[in-house]
Amino acid sequence: MKILVCNVGSTSLKFKLYEMPACEVFAQGAVERVGSGRDAIVSYNNNHTGARVDLDGQDIPDYQTGIEWFLQELTEGPRAALSSVEEIERVGFKATLSKGHFGVHEIDEAVLDGMKEWLPMAPLHNAAYIKAIEVMREVLPEARFVGAFETAFHREIPMERKIFGVPYEWYEKYGVQRLGYHSASHGYIADVLNKEKTEYAAISCHLGGSSSVCAILNGKSVDTSFGMSLESGLIHANRTGDIDCGMAAFLRGQGLSEQEIQEGFQKKGGLLGISGVSNDMRYVIEAADNGNIRARLAMEVFVTGIVHYIGAFYLDLGRLDDLVFTAGIGEHSARIRRMVCEKLMPIGVRMDEKKNEDCHGEGVISTANSAVCVRVIPTNEELGIARRTYEI
Ligand code: ADP
Repeated sequence: MKILVCNVGSTSLKFKLYEMPACEVFAQGAVERVGSGRDAIVSYNNNHTGARVDLDGQDIPDYQTGIEWFLQELTEGPRAALSSVEEIERVGFKATLSKGHFGVHEIDEAVLDGMKEWLPMAPLHNAAYIKAIEVMREVLPEARFVGAFETAFHREIPMERKIFGVPYEWYEKYGVQRLGYHSASHGYIADVLNKEKTEYAAISCHLGGSSSVCAILNGKSVDTSFGMSLESGLIHANRTGDIDCGMAAFLRGQGLSEQEIQEGFQKKGGLLGISGVSNDMRYVIEAADNGNIRARLAMEVFVTGIVHYIGAFYLDLGRLDDLVFTAGIGEHSARIRRMVCEKLMPIGVRMDEKKNEDCHGEGVISTANSAVCVRVIPTNEELGIARRTYEI
């Protein structure tokens, strides 16, 4: 069965075409900087023949044009991997959230309505997905559409970790609760660990543009750092992490408009907000090394947040067998991994400096006598989505 997996960003589209259940990637492509005038970057790769194309300076004014560009490459001309779009039986979306739909769902009007209703929880992400799904449904009228929601893996988090200290009717009436995100990534990490063992306690640290920590017991998420909206948990590239809700009221009282406050929380916060340098950890580290105090502070706030959650989850799990680093920062920054692990010495974590520095890709980076096996596992969110879309 051919399954097309779509990862939609606020200005980007990423595609992978899988043959399932073989988990083989037939073709993949990306369209970045959608709606930027003549500044878009497009790429496409036929994984069978190796034929590829990379172009920049393209005019991709909207999602429709981006989707049509990819499907044309997929089915026509020298790089085609399919004879027609009808071969695509299912389309799986790494969708963010939909009110009342927490797991993996076939996308119908009710699911789309739920996405619209919970737009304020993930304004940039949900708006982009709604648009992309609408376009895709027109271009691929025969295919089945599946939303593997980013909240799916956390559905069985126990109530005591799900419920916030707000009037209980808000949970009943509005669904106010800890939802959690990064299900495709933490779920993929659990898939990897599940192949090795059935009984284990692990903590998965997805550290990227958005970051979260997830406690996994015997293959299931039992807690996560994200709360209800994407502006929670660890600090992210541009978004605030945990803050107290009184802050918004206080800032309103200081004369800031609602828009200024939302921009501060969603676009001008996080690594960028603290460092004043960049939302990219590579530049933050570079600036810190050149003596920039705020950049150093941003690194420390980031690491402290990770350690806080690991400490809390460790006590809650009662033990820790595996600590996993994944995503852009988790996979590539030996520096951040070292800063985290140094603070975990009291729970018996012993990092092997050389293994950590030498780790490029998958590997164990703890010493033989470490109480916890510390490992790097490159995430594969698309494969997780392809599997969930196939299973439905
Ligand atoms: P997203 O969450 O947007 O999917 P990724 O998981 O690809 O992003 O992570 C992107 C982030 O990873 C970049 O913003 C950058 O901060 C970080 N990153 C990538 N490589 C490195 C590196 N070598 N050192 C530090 N940070 C890195």
